[in-house]
Amino acid sequence: MMANPTEAIAGLVFDDRYLQHNPGLYPIWSTGEPYPFVDPVLHLSNHRLVMRTKHLIDLSGLGAHLLRIPAYPASENDLLRFHSPEHIARVRALSASGGGETGEGAPAGPGSYEIALLAAGGAMAAVDAVVAGPVRHVFVNVRPPGHHAVRDRGMGYCLFNNVALAALHARHHHGLGRVLIVDWDVHHGNGTQAAFWTDPDVLFISLHQDGLYPEQSGGLDEIGEGAGAGFTVNVPLPAGCGDAAYRAAFERIVLPLAHQFQPELVLVSAGQDASAMDQHGRMSVTTDGYRRLTASMVAIAAEHAANRLVIVQEGGYSEIYAPYCTLAIVETLASHRTGLAEPLDPARFALQPPSTTIGPSAEAAIAAAERQHESRSDHLPAR
Ligand code: ZN
Repeated sequence: MMANPTEAIAGLVFDDRYLQHNPGLYPIWSTGEPYPFVDPVLHLSNHRLVMRTKHLIDLSGLGAHLLRIPAYPASENDLLRFHSPEHIARVRALSASGGGETGEGAPAGPGSYEIALLAAGGAMAAVDAVVAGPVRHVFVNVRPPGHHAVRDRGMGYCLFNNVALAALHARHHHGLGRVLIVDWDVHHGNGTQAAFWTDPDVLFISLHQDGLYPEQSGGLDEIGEGAGAGFTVNVPLPAGCGDAAYRAAFERIVLPLAHQFQPELVLVSAGQDASAMDQHGRMSVTTDGYRRLTASMVAIAAEHAANRLVIVQEGGYSEIYAPYCTLAIVETLASHRTGLAEPLDPARFALQPPSTTIGPSAEAAIAAAERQHESRSDHLPAR
């Protein structure tokens, strides 16, 4: 039974051009030529995650319950809200001359500049849609990802910071005041943190595997500065945490701070590389776990932000499992379960100890983050 997309409560941003961003082969050798007899593999940030996610959404029937939101290219002025003119010019020049490194581990391919503009503009179009109101929630199935990109260079597969640019668009173009950004990618959202380091109008909360990437980034004591002190919240979690620990971190840290902050818009940097099957991370979040995290964000958006919720794709490197995690997220946004069988039996898989228990190291990490921000909770304005 096809739903009438005009009645959909959720939307989807996707553009086939996102698949054309080509970061090349994965650098499995450190210097010079590849070792003999080692067959090259695609870059981990290849097109397959976003492509398989798109196919899964359509083939499961979920796509019929989603309003399609067309992406548009961000303008140079949009980018300049965060990025330096030099970085923008470098990405443009590399993209026009066949590709190259835009900073640190963030390669552009031919044409990547235009695709990255469309990626940032996709997140901005999603904000437009939830503000204008044809839908409450939008998932942005986008690449290249954004949350590592800093003002003056690309980092960690990210060229421009999609979620930061979406938040700035919401404030400058739509006049929204307080924006909450929750980043559950397994890596620290260093670029987004930097964008709003001194800004009390953006509450940035990152949950990530402690010490993963970038190195020396995302520690408990990184809380913002000046007027922004207390509005950056890092919850570094030890490797091995799964659904139960993420749920506890949400209940004890993310949700109380979000309620206090009373956002007018909720953005999520959604990395499904915290999944149990990911080759980049060592966490154990399952599809059920992602479903629960998403439901929490839906509830926060409903209570404070007139339902305005935009979830933007970041990392996720398990070709098999990550698209199903994303499907679970989009199902939750659309309030529609496809009932599709998963590649791992969630009934058995979600009962593994890393997903059901909060180990002592996880409890210590969550308690430490709780203490860090308990003492600062006075800092958040009661509005
Ligand atoms: Zn990541």
